[in-house]
Amino acid sequence: MTKRDYYEILGISKSASAEEIKKAYRKMAIQYHPDKNPGDKAAEEKFKEAAEAYEVLSDNNKRARYDQYGHAGVGAGAAGGGFGGGMNMEDIFSQFGDIFGGHFGGFGGSRGNRQSKGSNLRVRIKLNLEEMVNGTTKTIKVKKMKLAPGVSAKTCPTCQGSGVQVRVMNTMLGQMQTQTTCGNCNGVGKVADKIPPGANEQGLIRDDEEISINIPAGARDGIQLNVRGKGNDAPFGGSPGDLLVVIEEEEDGHIKREGDNLHQELYISFAEAALGTSKEIPTVGSKVKVKIDAGTQSGKILRLPNKGLPSIDSYGKGDMFIHINVWTPQKLSNEQRKFFEEQINSEEMIPKPTGKEKTFFEKVKDLFN
Ligand SMILES: [Zn+2]
Repeated sequence: MTKRDYYEILGISKSASAEEIKKAYRKMAIQYHPDKNPGDKAAEEKFKEAAEAYEVLSDNNKRARYDQYGHAGVGAGAAGGGFGGGMNMEDIFSQFGDIFGGHFGGFGGSRGNRQSKGSNLRVRIKLNLEEMVNGTTKTIKVKKMKLAPGVSAKTCPTCQGSGVQVRVMNTMLGQMQTQTTCGNCNGVGKVADKIPPGANEQGLIRDDEEISINIPAGARDGIQLNVRGKGNDAPFGGSPGDLLVVIEEEEDGHIKREGDNLHQELYISFAEAALGTSKEIPTVGSKVKVKIDAGTQSGKILRLPNKGLPSIDSYGKGDMFIHINVWTPQKLSNEQRKFFEEQINSEEMIPKPTGKEKTFFEKVKDLFN
């Protein structure tokens, strides 16, 4: 299924302000709210879709990544985790507090027994260019909270297992009932009974776990993958949190990345520049042969189309740029010295710029056009 553009979903322009985004989302959330459209699957999908769009566009960081890389830039669709319909209703309703203030909850009331969720864990993984391009699997060790072995549970004495506390308040308008998540069991309905030594009062203990993470091809610096259910365990009955994996690019000593394009310096000898040659140079994961014409000047930039990185949200590929530097010999044998002394004033050795040589700045400008 192709994902719709987030701006399109909310019916706003790419330059919409934070206030416009919020307003558009509020309108859609009210229109498609499940309590107003009971049993209507299409409305529910629209509701979720809008929530996902808002989740990304309301966060400046995520919005910037989305603008640059599309859905893949915000983890959607990547690693089978992220959103992609996976954003559950609880997540969506928990957003509402910020947007609608407390009273939006008045729509529902029916979602009493909230299951508590374990907290998310965040790790950083360094990848080199080749791993980012081709994808890879990394096994990492994380410290996380796990349900301690031997811990047992009993029904929460505060809420008798319902997970909610009901309060009756006398107000000007008469008696009002409010339901809140039970503070004793965090909505789980159970609390730890026998707690093994070393575990906390929720029966959780800190432990190492090795987790294997599948990183899809085309990852980029700063992208976050969401591995569902690999975060901290929740107390009884709750589902574990997620493991958030932030990708960091490892500096490659030789090849520099700039968007989808790659750059590298190539040094050739004075003789090679004069006579022409061919060189085998590394690209990501392989090698490529380039031809250096006779008479190549220092500073020339060769462009190898499609030898860069695959574009993250299209089928295209970036280019590889080879920056040529002519190496001037720093030590000469007597014979060589004699050769150059004889040649120094020869017609062919005298620089004759045509005026058409591009300056450094013109070359840089060309690269971006
Ligand atoms: Zn309780």
